[in-house]
Amino acid sequence: AFIFKQRSSIPKYIVVLSAASGGASLVAYADSKPADENPTRKKKVVVLGTGWGGTTFLRNLDSSQYDVQVISPRNYFAFTPLLPSVTCGTVEPRSIVEPIRRILEKKKGNIKFWEAECFKVDPKNKKLYCRSNIGTNLDGTGEFLVDYDYLVVAVGARSNTFNTPGVVEHCHFLKEVEDAQRIRRSVMDCFEQASLPNISDEERRRKLHFVIVGGGPTGVEFAAELHDFVSEDLSRLYPAIKDLVNISLIEAGEHILTMFDKRITEFAEHKFQRDGIDVKTGYKVVAVGPDSIKMQKSAVGEVQVPYGMAVWSTGIGTRPFISEFMKQIGQGSRRVLATDEWLRVPECEDVYAVGDCATINQRKVMEDVSAIFKVADKDNSGTLTIKEIQDVLDDICVRYPQVELYMKSKQMSDIRAFIADAQGDEKKESIELSIEEFKKALANVDSQVKFLPATAQVASQQGEYLARCFNKMKEAEEHPKGPVRIREPGRHRFRPFRYQHLGQFAPLGGEQTAAQLPGDWISIGQSSQWLWYSVYASKQVSWRTRMLVVTDWMRCFIFGRDSSCI
Ligand code: FAD
Repeated sequence: AFIFKQRSSIPKYIVVLSAASGGASLVAYADSKPADENPTRKKKVVVLGTGWGGTTFLRNLDSSQYDVQVISPRNYFAFTPLLPSVTCGTVEPRSIVEPIRRILEKKKGNIKFWEAECFKVDPKNKKLYCRSNIGTNLDGTGEFLVDYDYLVVAVGARSNTFNTPGVVEHCHFLKEVEDAQRIRRSVMDCFEQASLPNISDEERRRKLHFVIVGGGPTGVEFAAELHDFVSEDLSRLYPAIKDLVNISLIEAGEHILTMFDKRITEFAEHKFQRDGIDVKTGYKVVAVGPDSIKMQKSAVGEVQVPYGMAVWSTGIGTRPFISEFMKQIGQGSRRVLATDEWLRVPECEDVYAVGDCATINQRKVMEDVSAIFKVADKDNSGTLTIKEIQDVLDDICVRYPQVELYMKSKQMSDIRAFIADAQGDEKKESIELSIEEFKKALANVDSQVKFLPATAQVASQQGEYLARCFNKMKEAEEHPKGPVRIREPGRHRFRPFRYQHLGQFAPLGGEQTAAQLPGDWISIGQSSQWLWYSVYASKQVSWRTRMLVVTDWMRCFIFGRDSSCI
């Protein structure tokens, strides 16, 4: 290892480890003295990712207390809820992104940004192996080392293909701004190709068949956007082929939007039917070819559907970097990084994880079933009555909103469903549960409540919570037992993270939006569309993007969407 002084004031020393990582040279940004030798040195916080979790953490962090470094292959924050609007030109891509350096510019203290990805964590030595995604560095490998005192992992997730053959090669994803731009070009290419004089009607129909796989919020919103684009703009511009357009939404489950209230699901399915969007439920896509999609339904068998453009939106999977990290720390059997309720990765010191790449380990929820049972069994009968079960479930739901979400999403808030889990009979009304049956039912809930929903809402609340903890870290270190009111033996000095569900929207096209707000308040129609406009405008990270988004909506309203293939 060679150590030499650098001219720039940013890293004080550069360490070149010439034989590291299979011969690749790594440049390490290291301070002159380790933290313990230099007590005045600010602790280094490294944040991986500039998405919802990372950016919210940075915006709320008192950066004057730390030496902050941000590492992400994206030098901007993207407002993902408006990505479906970008696919059809309702909103322009640049209106929903904010350069991360503009966000950091407003912060106090020493914050650096490296446009790079982290590919390995060494939690023992508190080092990160990173690689510039523009491949420039002193020796051209683009790799460098960063050390940290605290690490915040907020790298999100990637699209999940469930290893379905042909998906990566032939389908579009809708995860990043670039994906939305590609979809927009592809839609227009399909229309232009279908307008050419030398192709058959069958080929025209194929080109104009748009298939969306996945009936979750993203797939549904994209289908609605595309339908609006076709009916409000493209049918005027392409009158000769407008009747050949077909939009299909394929969902493996029995319904679309299953994470929403039943009333919203039903409304969405009926609306899509009226709009002519072909909702195919119960179909599982098994392979995607260049021109056709193969899918199966038990009652129907296998069908092959020709298509012009397909968008794959079936949920999220683990990033390879996170999979590797999980293997390294003994979480290899999991799908996402498990944290405790303080968002700490338990196996590593000073590593925190937020957003889509992490989940709070729910095992704690059901940990002490006997204790829960004992408290619930008020008459000490050794069994729980329906009333007692209801009380205990309500209590669990209050303490663990994730569980409530699960129960709602599976329509399990009905107590009979819980009893059915325990005794396999949904019809019994006057039943009493023994502790064994109660355990079985709770275990069933526990096995399925693995994740907080992978939403921007969760990621940003976690980022904000963690920043608040970091802002108080110094104070807490000086008073290790914490303020009396939150001091509990053996516990962390901060209150645990609690997710507060603020509701969710499902835009369904034609200025109709479904809103599910806390307290089971449901609103569907144009008024919710206005609520959607105001919430999304207010949630923008800067006045610049807020203005751009609002003017895009106005432009679209006055002039329609732009149909050029740029
Ligand atoms: P992300 O926001 O995905 O950010 C991850 C960051 O990590 C990125 O900057 C990425 O470049 C960076 N990164 C990746 N790999 C590395 C690496 N190896 N090293 C360093 N950095 C890395 N949620 C809602 O609540 N409401 C909605 O309406 C909504 N609509 C959505 C619509 C679409 C089309 C999509 C795709 C998502 C939507 N979501 C919505 C979900 C929401 O976007 C995600 O839950 C949220 O982005 C998760 O935040 P995150 O910080 O965990 O990850």
